[in-house]
Amino acid sequence: LLTEADITKTDLAGIGIGVPGLVDPRGKTILRTPNIHLAHFPLAAALKKTFSVPVILGNDVNAGVLAEHWLGAGRGHQNIVGIFVGTGVGGGIILDGKLFAGAQGLAGELGHLTIAPSGPKCGCGNRGCLEALTGRLAIEREIRQGIKRRERTRIKEIAGGKIQSIKSKTLKKALNKKDPLVTRIMRDVAVTLGKACISLRHVFNPELIILGGGVIEACGDFILPIVKKTAGSEPFFAKVDNCTITAAELADDAGVLGAAALIKNYLQH
Ligand SMILES: [Zn+2]
Repeated sequence: LLTEADITKTDLAGIGIGVPGLVDPRGKTILRTPNIHLAHFPLAAALKKTFSVPVILGNDVNAGVLAEHWLGAGRGHQNIVGIFVGTGVGGGIILDGKLFAGAQGLAGELGHLTIAPSGPKCGCGNRGCLEALTGRLAIEREIRQGIKRRERTRIKEIAGGKIQSIKSKTLKKALNKKDPLVTRIMRDVAVTLGKACISLRHVFNPELIILGGGVIEACGDFILPIVKKTAGSEPFFAKVDNCTITAAELADDAGVLGAAALIKNYLQH
């Protein structure tokens, strides 16, 4: 990688790595990764030995929100909540210009906000988490249930016959074709995200809420107006409506820029 970028070890100020899971508060060891088996691996120490520079690990969504703050939709804002809707739902919180980590570095797991206590089971073990209602896996589940109930849809045809896994782009296609089932489900998803925004406004009073992730990238044009309308309907904030809800800007670069933002953040504070 270094050779490709034409830089040498001595050019490095530090190394940042976005991890799809939980890392310890000091950013040295991976605690839990649902999708890759790297738990308890002291990755930072191993890399530090090779490169002799500070190495910092962080949750990949936290990193993505830091990157949006640095170079994307969050530029110039000091209080930001980021919600990233992909396969699951992740989050990140920036308060007074700094990433809010919490006591154990585990803050910002907005995907596991309980929205519907008797709702569908979430991967974390609880019920009705934001992720279990709005993540792509949840959307797939709702589509399969809708098909079972014989709701009107052409999603199978739009997805090329396979609905085991439905890509965000396929959801977008179905929305463009005004597929009744997918439209109904995506509207529910957007309203739920809007309700989550209301709760997050009550807790953090952010000036900006950034929505990102694969589902938003593909279907943001449909989802965002509904999120804004739902969040804006909260009477509590009617007279202090200064919270902007916007889409993330960095898309494909978010991972790399997020990793860079992590080490930049670490070296600065
Ligand atoms: Zn959960």
